[in-house]
Amino acid sequence: MSTWDTIVDFVVIGSGAAGMTGALFAHDLGASTLVVEKSGRYGGSTALSGGMLWVPANHLMLQARLADSLVEGLTYLEDITRGTSSADRLRVYLETAPAMVRYLADHSHVRFDCIADYPDYYPERPGGKVGGRSIEPEEFDARALGAEFACQRMPSKNALVLGLLQITVGEVRMLMRGGRPATTFLLRHLLRYLFDVRARWRTRNDTRLTLGPALAARLRRSLMDRDVPLWLNTTLQELVVEHGRVVGVVVEREGRTVAIRATKGVLLAAGGFERNGVLRQHYQQPPIGDQWTVGSSDNTGDWVDLGLRVGAAFDLMEEAWWTPVLLAPGEPQPRVMIVEKGLPGSLIIDQRGERFVNEAAPYNDIGHRMFATHAAAAAAIPAYFVFDGRFRKKYAIGPVMPGSSRPDWTLPKVVRERFLTIAPTIAELAAKLGVDRERFESTIRRYNEGARVGRDPDYGRGDSPQDRYYSDPRVTPNPCLGSLETPPFYAARVYPGDLGTKGGLRTDHRARVLATGGDPIAGLYAAGNCSASVMGDTYPGAGGTIGPAMTFACIAARHAIGGDCFASPSRAA
Ligand SMILES: Cc1cc2nc3c(=O)[nH]c(=O)nc-3n(C[C@H](O)[C@H](O)[C@H](O)COP(=O)(O)OP(=O)(O)OC[C@H]3O[C@@H](n4cnc5c(N)ncnc54)[C@H](O)[C@@H]3O)c2cc1C
Repeated sequence: MSTWDTIVDFVVIGSGAAGMTGALFAHDLGASTLVVEKSGRYGGSTALSGGMLWVPANHLMLQARLADSLVEGLTYLEDITRGTSSADRLRVYLETAPAMVRYLADHSHVRFDCIADYPDYYPERPGGKVGGRSIEPEEFDARALGAEFACQRMPSKNALVLGLLQITVGEVRMLMRGGRPATTFLLRHLLRYLFDVRARWRTRNDTRLTLGPALAARLRRSLMDRDVPLWLNTTLQELVVEHGRVVGVVVEREGRTVAIRATKGVLLAAGGFERNGVLRQHYQQPPIGDQWTVGSSDNTGDWVDLGLRVGAAFDLMEEAWWTPVLLAPGEPQPRVMIVEKGLPGSLIIDQRGERFVNEAAPYNDIGHRMFATHAAAAAAIPAYFVFDGRFRKKYAIGPVMPGSSRPDWTLPKVVRERFLTIAPTIAELAAKLGVDRERFESTIRRYNEGARVGRDPDYGRGDSPQDRYYSDPRVTPNPCLGSLETPPFYAARVYPGDLGTKGGLRTDHRARVLATGGDPIAGLYAAGNCSASVMGDTYPGAGGTIGPAMTFACIAARHAIGGDCFASPSRAA
């Protein structure tokens, strides 16, 4: 490149958890840093997410006297990844993540709360824990962002309580259980929202940020304190290579081509390719497209082509952070189905009328099972989420509030006819769904027999503390199991959606992008969902995607810039 428009030490592509964390550390290590973001809003999927991080032996859990160690974390990860990740990357993750969380808490606005009772997704496996490794961002007052708040990507209405309010992980469970605490909470926060007159004048968005919105805002505020520039509406178009080293990038900024030299390195943190139907069909298992993802709309995997052009290696491209989703009529986005799938009085069947999975299992496993069943045994895409009148009365299902407050006759016709299938008997439900009546009745009979004594002989639903996290403790002996016997009977279609893809550029334990021959491509780093996940094909616990995204971005900055910010005083403003 003969002329550069701008020269910095470190260029970061993307402004999600990986990008903003990489920029923060690069700055604190003394580098001039620039973040470029394709969208007109910063935050990516991170700003839409639960914002949790999964970090074994983090200082918050140790302060809460929950014992953990690197060795236990490694035992667990080696067990659950089963060779789909590499030992050196797992180890460096476990060494760096707790130090990173600690550094951020001490030197920036990025602070977390420990969720002491949120289990790992496989707590019974060697090294597994029943709580403490998942941490969530402390809630954040968006007014601290000033005018910049208008530039943050925000969750859609369907991800908010009453279409307005953000809540913490603990509040999700409290609201799920209903009763007086839930009513009081809703009233209090609705009034707070309505009487926040200055905010209401400017925006519909609640200024009490929790979960992913709080994480994105905390990272953004921390970059603002450091005067790290973030260029919105700026798309990476080319990686500039000179003598085998990536020395800069070409971006398109508001219609203009800009060449940026990066003397110390380029960090790709541009998210997954979940929104690119063509790439998904090329790399992933059918039937797939971009219609079931809840990832950020700008995550179209632009880096795939750029990576191929510089000879990068790829891995895990067939994988995603799977989750079952529901498609509610009139809503532009699917709804993740994480809470309702393990509640008692419901099950999931394939199109033969048979169960094929422990419905309360981690959501990533449900996605895998749906694809595997669909390919090998019976059509399972869509599958059917089936429940009875008692379930309907007590619990919300996607956009449908519990029947106690929203009886069927008050639901819009489109919901009654296109979202829910309703029938007075299991036989008639079978006929409406087109599944085999005898098989379906036998599935329900067997499930009910087990549920009455609190056992699921086929899939062990409710046996794991993980299954019980989103369950109904009022139901005994097994809070995940209840028989389906109260008419009418209902079904809703379930699809294998995802929170984003997790395959991408293959990287080493320093977050350097590797070439197909196995050597690092000098000057090029990747973190987050554009890199092949350190978690392989599995999902260790809530926060298993953002934890590594931030950690490997931090590792990339430390390697590119040099020095050790963990040992030195902060350069934060
Ligand atoms: C509803 C929901 C809940 C979730 N909950 C959790 C959770 O609690 N914990 C967890 O660990 N994970 C969770 N996830 C998954 C998690 O949000 C993502 O895996 C993670 O945020 C990815 O971070 P990232 O930095 O790699 O990408 P992103 O946050 O998606 O950021 C990538 C950014 O790059 C930008 N970009 C793309 N292409 C270009 C280009 N060519 N040039 C410039 N910029 C570009 C994008 O616009 C985007 O802003 C959830 C996801 C969703 C949707």
